Amino acid sequence: MKYQTILLFGAPGSGKGTQGKILGTIPNFFHCACGDVFRSLSAANPLARVFIEYTSRGQLVPDEPTVKLWRQFIQNSERIGRFNPGNDVLVLDGIPRNLPQAEMLDTTLEVRAILYLHCANFDRLVQRLQRRALKENRLDDANLDVIRHRLKVYERETKPVLKYYGAKKIHRIDSTQPPTKVLRDILARIDRVMK
Ligand code: ADP
Repeated sequence: MKYQTILLFGAPGSGKGTQGKILGTIPNFFHCACGDVFRSLSAANPLARVFIEYTSRGQLVPDEPTVKLWRQFIQNSERIGRFNPGNDVLVLDGIPRNLPQAEMLDTTLEVRAILYLHCANFDRLVQRLQRRALKENRLDDANLDVIRHRLKVYERETKPVLKYYGAKKIHRIDSTQPPTKVLRDILARIDRVMK
């Protein structure tokens, strides 16, 4: 059985994490942010070192270990009863992050909708990321060159994922609005799609 999935999509700093966390508090929604799965690895895990190595340069972690780790996390969440695929909608944030990952997850995910948190203002994204660096102690947000590189990787590698799933599934939401209004728009779309 494929997981009924909503993808939260958008550039770093577009607010996916903020909105995803809220959606995850709604009964029968399970939020999974791939970056959080990496950050929760213990320092003793060799993949934690790989994660820091790539992230600190603003690059994506290689696909194979990423998808493997994600599968382990989801299967474990199922086992401990936090995620019940029979009833729950999976809200994914940060994965799939490029075409190979989308292909690898094809037999696992039934993507019902893509909520595309759109922000055309580059400076605004950079500002948000720099603020987050201070608040959440994130290495990858602290350095301007790394931020710029991540935004480039997003344009080059992540954006093509939109085309992969097709225009019909994409719901574009203005992420420059205040968070309450972004949430309102997201809920309206989910309401329509999951009926
Ligand atoms: P942001 O959306 O702001 O980039 P994330 O927490 O989603 O923040 O990701 C932080 C970093 O973690 C990424 O820059 C990347 O190095 C790594 N990462 C997260 N998800 C993936 C993924 N699906 N594939 C490869 N690398 C990933």
